[in-house]
Amino acid sequence: MFENLSERLSGVFDRLTKQGALSEEDVKTALREVRVALLEADVSLPVAREFVKKVQDQATGQAVTKSITPGQQVVKIVHDAMVDTLRGEEDPGALKIDNPPAPILMVGLQGSGKTTTTGKLAKRLKEKEGKKVLMASLDVYRPAAMDQLAVLGTQVGVDTLPIVPGQKPVDIAKRAKQQATLGGYDVYMLDTAGRLHIDEVLMNEVEQVRNAVDPRETLLVVDGLTGQVAVEVAEEFDAKVGISGVVLTRMDGDGRGGAALSMRAVTGKPIRFVGLGEKMDALETFEPDRIAGRILG
Ligand code: GDP
Repeated sequence: MFENLSERLSGVFDRLTKQGALSEEDVKTALREVRVALLEADVSLPVAREFVKKVQDQATGQAVTKSITPGQQVVKIVHDAMVDTLRGEEDPGALKIDNPPAPILMVGLQGSGKTTTTGKLAKRLKEKEGKKVLMASLDVYRPAAMDQLAVLGTQVGVDTLPIVPGQKPVDIAKRAKQQATLGGYDVYMLDTAGRLHIDEVLMNEVEQVRNAVDPRETLLVVDGLTGQVAVEVAEEFDAKVGISGVVLTRMDGDGRGGAALSMRAVTGKPIRFVGLGEKMDALETFEPDRIAGRILG
């Protein structure tokens, strides 16, 4: 479906005379191809434009290395600039969970993969960091979502807060905090309700919960295949409740993952993890290098 950027650029550079340094004209020609590649990878237009401008300034006048072609050289410059933009935290997987019990708030739209990611992250914290984790579903609108979290808990060997019908989300959150404190848990994860679209009720509810528990991390789960929509969702959640990081799901799909670049460039929030499938171990720490390679094809 996509044409590889290196192939594209080699075509462009074949038509250019080889010189000792990348001329402005060479770089401009190459970057037109880069821009198309970014847009095909679902990077938003303003972000692609700004990114190309940044790379243009860096690339112009650079000496052409003998061992690689000018096309490869531009790809390398683009790749490095992309990694630079994508890099958020030194160690994206290191969550702030000292001072037990540490609350982690999971937010996002319905269907984004929030509940699945809650289970995956709980498993990771338990197995990789030896943490005692409690999970609680605050989705009072969909009893199936509560059951789903309980099932995942059993599957990964992590406790879930017993379901008490009729409680409000903020009261469930308080109960989770209490149980986490009494039970000697290191972390309690709150899986908030999602809706199909952002609305006032959803945001107010998340805000109330946030105020009640003062989360150490608020992780937004977004579907990485939704591109620009994912970025808009992140902006809205951040403006209303403040997010500390993003989890991009469905990165096992056949999209090119351009949402990652737009997400970083627009929101400034670090991407912490990527979801790579439905299974409970299909969660990886975000690696800028890998995503850059994938966006460039
Ligand atoms: P929620 O409504 O946001 O809680 O979404 P769910 O966690 O219920 O996930 C919705 C669907 O997406 C489920 O069928 C999950 O198995 C699936 N899903 C979640 N994360 C991923 C992922 O990273 N890759 C793939 N392929 N599917 C995922």
